[in-house]
Amino acid sequence: MAKKSGKEGGGKDTLKRYRSKRDLERSPEPKGGSKRKGRTPRFVIQEHDARSHHFDFRLEVDGVLKSWAIPKGPSTDPREKRLAIAVEDHPLEYAKFEGVIPEGEYGAGTVIVWDAGRYRNVTTEDDEEIPMDRALRKGRVEIWLEGEKLEGGYALIHTKMRGDEKNWILVKVKDEKADARRNPVKSQPKSVRSGRTIAQVAREGGKSGKNGA
Ligand code: MN
Repeated sequence: MAKKSGKEGGGKDTLKRYRSKRDLERSPEPKGGSKRKGRTPRFVIQEHDARSHHFDFRLEVDGVLKSWAIPKGPSTDPREKRLAIAVEDHPLEYAKFEGVIPEGEYGAGTVIVWDAGRYRNVTTEDDEEIPMDRALRKGRVEIWLEGEKLEGGYALIHTKMRGDEKNWILVKVKDEKADARRNPVKSQPKSVRSGRTIAQVAREGGKSGKNGA
């Protein structure tokens, strides 16, 4: 496969799907386009109460947020494998998005920043560290999260089950940050950005919508 020479940055073209799905004049979601290079990459987990409730797990890779929708949310228990469905790349600015996507729009519902922080790629192959794009193509990614709620090693594994290319599994690696008794999805429901729960953000969004704001 020919590798694109990255003059425009790897991110630009991969946001076409993101933009084509949305009316960004009507939705408060970010349009995308900013670039940020050189620092430790970010991750974010957004709780999204849409048609079906899920958590969006996003990793900064080459100027975009690689994204998976996790119906049950992440776990701190290494025995819990969580289905993570690959979705379209999102712009970096999306990591800060919290609010209400209006009815009738793609992803209509409420979003909060459930967890956020930095991550390190710790994927190896034959005992050598390999870059994220290669790890993603190979379908096995190991990362070390430094979030407010989630910490330590996590593995994202492409399942290729039933021919469904979108299905991955997110699982906690057994390390000192693993904890089978914690259940942060239940016990720590507030946004790490605003301190609000998804119900509070939805209520406020509904009010301002009615006022025409
Ligand atoms: Mn979502």
